[in-house]
Amino acid sequence: MSRNSGSPGNRPPVMVSACLLGVHCRYDGLHALCPDLRDFAGRHPCIPFCPEQLGGLPTPRSPCRIVGGDGRDVLTGKARLINAEGENRTEEFRRGAEEAYRLSRLTGSGIAVMKSGSPSCGIHTVYCEKPEGRGTGVTAALFQKRGIIVFELDSNDSFPDQKFLDALKQLNDKERPCSV
Ligand code: SF4
Repeated sequence: MSRNSGSPGNRPPVMVSACLLGVHCRYDGLHALCPDLRDFAGRHPCIPFCPEQLGGLPTPRSPCRIVGGDGRDVLTGKARLINAEGENRTEEFRRGAEEAYRLSRLTGSGIAVMKSGSPSCGIHTVYCEKPEGRGTGVTAALFQKRGIIVFELDSNDSFPDQKFLDALKQLNDKERPCSV
C-alpha cells in the first residue's frame, strides 16, 4: 500500500494548525482563522491538529514561552516551556509534538502549514530565548527534524503562494505510483 492510498484523490494531505481553520483551540479559547487556508481546505485534503491540545493541555490555558533556547533546544533537553504561572509544561509540549507527528505518519502527510508566532507551531516565534530574538516552535522543530516540509502562516496572509504549491506538487509527484 502506498503512503497516500487513503487520501481522497490519492493526494497526500496537508497538516494544518487547527486554529488557522477557525477551531477555538488557542490558549485564550479563540481561533486564528485564515480565510484563504479555509478555502484551500475545501479543495485539498487537510488534517487539522493542535499540538498543545494533543499534549493534554486544556483550552483556554495559560500561555507558555520557551526558556533557555527555542523548540530545537527543547527537543535536545536544553530548553523548557514555562507558563505565565511559572509552571513547567515541557512534557505536554513534547508529547503534543510527538502525537502531531504520529498523525502525519498515519495520514501520509509530508507537508504542514502552521500558525506563525506560536511556541508550538511557529518557525519564527518570539516566545523563546534566542540571541536572534526569534526561534522555532517545538512541533515545527520536530517536523523539520523528521523531514516534514513546514510553512508558517498568519490569519491575514494570502494562501497558497507559489513556493507552497511547488512543494506540494513535488510531494505529489514523489508519492504518485509509477504507471508503467
Ligand atoms: S498555534 Fe498551534 S498550538 Fe497554538 S492553538 Fe494553533 S494549532 Fe494549537
